[in-house]
Amino acid sequence: MINRRKTRKIFVGNVMVGANSPITVQTMTNTNTENVKATLQQIEGVASIGADIVRVSCPNMASSATALREIVKNSPIPIIADVHFNYKRAIEAIESGAHCIRINPGNILDYGLKEIANAANNNNVSIRLGINSGSIPRDILEKHKEPSVDAIIETAILNIKKFEDMGFYNFKISVKSSDVNTSIAAYRKLSEISDYPLHIGITEAGTLFCGTIKSAIGIGTLLADGIGDTLRVSLSLKDIREEVKVGRQILKSLDLLGNTVNIVACPTCARTLIDVVAIATELEKITGNFDKTLRISVLGCVVNGPGEAINSDIGIFGFKKGIAKIYKDGTEIKTCAEENIVEIVGEIVSAL
Ligand code: SF4
Repeated sequence: MINRRKTRKIFVGNVMVGANSPITVQTMTNTNTENVKATLQQIEGVASIGADIVRVSCPNMASSATALREIVKNSPIPIIADVHFNYKRAIEAIESGAHCIRINPGNILDYGLKEIANAANNNNVSIRLGINSGSIPRDILEKHKEPSVDAIIETAILNIKKFEDMGFYNFKISVKSSDVNTSIAAYRKLSEISDYPLHIGITEAGTLFCGTIKSAIGIGTLLADGIGDTLRVSLSLKDIREEVKVGRQILKSLDLLGNTVNIVACPTCARTLIDVVAIATELEKITGNFDKTLRISVLGCVVNGPGEAINSDIGIFGFKKGIAKIYKDGTEIKTCAEENIVEIVGEIVSAL
């Protein structure tokens, strides 16, 4: 069992982040925000597969003031406006109805931060303070010689204090690095000294294969430590739905996603008697939106098949070439040809 660290709670629209709330999965659109139709299409796509929150970049007034208003109005999930350099974009985004603003305090002057905090306070909008190893203030960087864990934490403390001194507490923090070890160490350290909700992730993790592995290790390690209230998997790819799928799968692997189907499948070998890969892949598809906790095991033979079947809600294993046994709640209920497995399991699942 994972003991989640106790944090304050904030809201991003109607989604609670921190305290005892479920850990949420975020992603970020990669459309031109001014193209409202394309951006909303992407948001609907990620919302339909379980994204809880989505971030939208607002690099200019046309995006933060005009497009964002339409996007917020029509989005099925809360919107975080991503703003850099010019505090006025953040004010415009707040006035356009953004549910949260993501800023990197390192690239906005103190006067601008104050204006953002005031506007956010007046509109009950939360903020993410995104501390990034790539934008440590010069004096801190000179002191630590490199964007080390201590440099990141000193920057985080500096900005937490800045916002608290402005009377603003409605924020979550991220301390991301593109280096997995640095990220893990920074979040661990921050979680010891602060109880603000944490947005976790490995920044610029890379392409689908490498980025997924880096994120699973970095985010997964933190979650297993009980650290993290919301997460984003940052992948270099066109289809942002992959980020949501990976994020949800990380949570699922640690039993942190609530009602989900967990498919256990063996890697197959010379003993394999049924097409485990095709059956497990198909079952994953047909149970993707199933809203109950369920463990389904698919194994190729009797070496581990019966043992896993007994410990699963639904267990399938190869018994003879092309023939499988199906167990339900630990009891054998059927022997069938492998081509009928998916249909039979589908019927069992829909009757639950
Ligand atoms: Fe091979 Fe059987 Fe193990 Fe699957 S369960 S990997 S088929 S020995």
